[in-house]
This record gives sequence, structure tokens and C-alpha cells, in this order.
Amino acid sequence: MTELADPPVEREESLARITHWIGGQRVAGTSGRTGPVYNPSLGRQASEVDLASVEEVDAAVQAAKAAFPAWRAMSIAKRAELMFRIRELLHERREEVARLLVAEHGKVLSDALGEVARGLEVVEFACGIPTLIKGEFTEQASTGIDVYSIRQPLGVVAGITPFNFPAMVPMWMWAPALACGNTFVLKPSEKDPSASLWTAELLKEAGVPDGVFNVVHGDKVAVDALLEHTDVSAISFVGSTPIARYIYETGTRHGKRVQALGGAKNHMIVLPDADIDMAADAAVSAAYGSAGERCMAISQVVAVGHAADDLVAAIKARLPKIKVGDGLDPTSEMGPLVTREHRDKVAGYLEGAKEQGATVVADGRESAPEGTGFFLGVSLLDDVTPEMDAYKDEIFGPVLGVTRVDTYDEALKLVNENPYGNGTAIFTRDGGVARQFQFDVQAGMVGINVPIPVPVAYYSFGGWKASLFGDTHIYGPEGINFYTRGKVVTSRWPDPATSSVDLGFPQTR
Ligand code: NAD
Repeated sequence: MTELADPPVEREESLARITHWIGGQRVAGTSGRTGPVYNPSLGRQASEVDLASVEEVDAAVQAAKAAFPAWRAMSIAKRAELMFRIRELLHERREEVARLLVAEHGKVLSDALGEVARGLEVVEFACGIPTLIKGEFTEQASTGIDVYSIRQPLGVVAGITPFNFPAMVPMWMWAPALACGNTFVLKPSEKDPSASLWTAELLKEAGVPDGVFNVVHGDKVAVDALLEHTDVSAISFVGSTPIARYIYETGTRHGKRVQALGGAKNHMIVLPDADIDMAADAAVSAAYGSAGERCMAISQVVAVGHAADDLVAAIKARLPKIKVGDGLDPTSEMGPLVTREHRDKVAGYLEGAKEQGATVVADGRESAPEGTGFFLGVSLLDDVTPEMDAYKDEIFGPVLGVTRVDTYDEALKLVNENPYGNGTAIFTRDGGVARQFQFDVQAGMVGINVPIPVPVAYYSFGGWKASLFGDTHIYGPEGINFYTRGKVVTSRWPDPATSSVDLGFPQTR
């Protein structure tokens, strides 16, 4: 077996510095702490990112707080117009940001453009803020009394985001948050921070006032400062489950509204009546796209009955054709993993799975491209059982496991007993079984012959169980609710002549 190359990580001669963005300008960090940012295809450090201190986080929150009164007072018509301008600029310049994603995350350019396109859908949804934020009105709720509801922004809200979607996941947050009239502090992943700075500059160019959108880079120090800050009203988080749980518990303890989306182990059930070629195409696309670094990736196929042998053979046949390489090479279909450390952790599961009794049908260590990049080829594990680490853990890499069961009920039980409940899919030609699956399955997003059922922007995204902590899903109508709070007004314009003292509890009449 080829050992993965392990030379020391090289650094560019002069490292670019990625700064914070506070009050409408780049602000160099003063904490004295920085983190490395790599180019994963080259396996080389490309820049360093400032890691914020508590004081720097406070400066960003104060900038957002100062900008809030004027931003919330801006008419909805003007805010909608700004959202349209942002949408136009993002659309025109999408390739610029996609290239930043390729450089720091490693995903291939076509995939990066797909990420930006899905994020843009949420910006487009937010352009509809005039209709989304409409209240309700009841005339003559009681005699001479009208009742109406309005939704108002929360104030300063913060977003903490993962490495795997450095442009799209922040868009899930800032687009609805800003459209609703909040001001925003983003703490992006320190692994690929450039897209957020690029976004800040684009928002300024579009005309967003200084202080409305701020970026602080950092690690646990910055995150804790946001969680504990008395001027932050709400936190949106997307990342791994242990951190999501911590964010939810700490943020709510400090009186904040929190939505914290966590990790996943997405199962795809293939029934014996499914079109095997279609199921194999779907499994391969959903398992290895973005090197498996997607929270909606299919990491586990559950093959029912006689589907298994044919399905494993069909998936295996497709693997040698997958071109792994530099994300800027237009022929590449899958790039490297985000860091060497992560690549090595993923590779470790292959050894472990073999020791624990899985059949290694394809070992990505043997097909990784040569060179210093953080590459791993695609791996397929058969005969995976729920006790194995490769089944229990979210590997977050290009490793697909197959578990064989005899019946639909056994397959369903596996999904429902899994601690995660983000996405799931079923492949079948039987509409009745598919509908029963939709009824029975305990997961937030369900695909019927669709392997990655990420909801369109006018629905909301979110999992169940350990995949989400909090009450509301992200973006879509639930996103608008999350970033606003309701107020109900009861009003009367009486004839003073009819006024009298009445100490009884007010009743409708
Ligand atoms: P992560 O949890 O390591 O990091 C997410 C964010 O939390 C980053 O901004 C990071 O700086 C911060 N963070 C990390 N450790 C922290 C700590 N100890 N205290 C406070 N803050 C901390 O996640 P990641 O590796 O960047 O992203 C991959 C994970 O995100 C996977 O588990 C994936 O499933 C999940 N994810 C989930 C969704 C979803 O919608 N459910 C979407 C994308 C990614």
C-alpha cells in the first residue's frame, strides 16, 4: 500500500494577512495571535489569519450596535432595494469568491460555483423582505378595537460558521438577518476566512452602511466572547455536534436566542426495486462530491435484500473514473481535504474499518494523487455494521460505507436509531413505500430518489436530534422568524364621551 506523503508543510515566502472587518473597514488584529490558512491542493500555507481577542470582538459588537438604530429605521423598501443590489453584485462577481473557496477549502471550481449559487438563492429570498415581514391585522376584534401584529429585528446578531461552506452558510445567516433589520457580526471558520472578508467588501460596495456587517476571525476566544456578550441578542451556528451543543447551552444560558446546527450521518436506503444504476450514480455523487465534506453528504448506504451485490458492484465500477486533483483543473471532479490533519484522520478510519471487520472495496490511500496536497482518493467500505467506528462517526471525508440488511423495516430502524437526523434518502420505484418512509423517518430533510435534499430557499433547512439544537431551522420562513420578534398591538380610537372606569378584566364584546 502506498503511504501518504508526509513532508513538512511549506509556507509561501511572504504570507498574506487576513484581517478583521469592523465598522466598514479592514482592521488588523492586535491580539498577537494568528492561525495558518493553507492551500490544500498545494499542501502549503498560503496566508495567516488574525485571531481576535475579547476586546476586538467587543469592538465589532459595538460597531454593530451603533449601526443598528439607523439600519432598523431604514424603510423596508430601501432595505429591499439594497438586497437586490447585493444580489446583482454577487451574481456578477460569483467566480471571484468561488476561486477563493477553491484556494482555501480545496473544492473544485464547479462545486464552489454551486455553493455560491445555492447561497444566492437565500439572498434572492431575502429580497422579498417586504412580503416576508408583513404582520397581520384584525379590524373590529372587539367593538371599536383593532388588533395587529408586527415583527421587529432583534438588534446585534452573530453567526459562527464551519469550514465546509465558507460563502453559502454565512449567506444563510446574514442575508435574512440584515433584511429583517438586524446588524451582524460574523465569526467564520479560521480555516478558510477569505470569503467573508470578500463578502464584507462587496456589501460595502453595494451600499450597506458601515457597522451593519462586521467580521471577526478567531477561535474559541472569539466564540466565547460572542456567546457571553450582553449586546448580542442571537447566535446562529453551523458546525459539528459537540460544538453546536456547547454553543446552544452557553448562548441560551446567557439569555440569547440560539439556533445551532450540528453534524450528520446521512443514510441512503436502496430498496430491491430501485433502479440500481441511478442509485449508484446518486450514491457516488453524494458521497464523494466536495470530498465528502458536506453535512448533507451521503456517508452510509443501506442496501436492502438483493439490491446489495449489484449496488456495490455498480458503485465500485464508477470509482476509477473519478478524477481527483487540483480544484482549478477543469477536469478535476474532487479536490483535496481541507487540512493534512483532517486528511490523516479520515485515512485512519480505513485502517480501523478493516480491523473491525469491514470489507475494504476501494482504499483511497492507494489512489491519492502524488504530491504535497492534502489528497485522498475515494474509498468504499462494504459489510459495515453499526458497532464499527466508520459507522458511528461522522467521517467527513470521501469514504462511503455500505450496510446490508434484509428488510425495509431494518433499514428504517437504522436511520431512526442513529443519533443524528440531518438528511436521509430512499431510492425505490414504489410510491407507497416512499410515502411511508416520509411518514416514519426521523430526520429533518428527506429525499425520495434525491440524494442531497437541501431545501430550496423558501423552505427552511435543518435536521433533527443531534443535528440541530434550538427550535428553528435556518433560512426560509423559519429564518425570518428567528431574526425577528413579534409584537401585538391592540388599539382603540374611542369617543372620549364613552369613557368610564371599569376594574374588571378586559373582555371582548
Ligand atoms: P467545527 O464545529 O469544528 O467549527 C465550526 C465553528 O466553530 C468554527 O467557526 C470554529 O472556529 C468554531 N469552533 C471550533 N471549535 C470550537 C470550540 N471548542 N469552541 C468554540 N468554537 C469553536 O466544524 P467544522 O469542522 O468547521 O465544520 C464541519 C462540521 O460542520 C461537520 O460536523 C458538519 O456536519 C457540520 N456542518 C453542519 C451543517 C448543517 O447544516 N447541519 C452544515 C455544514 C457543516
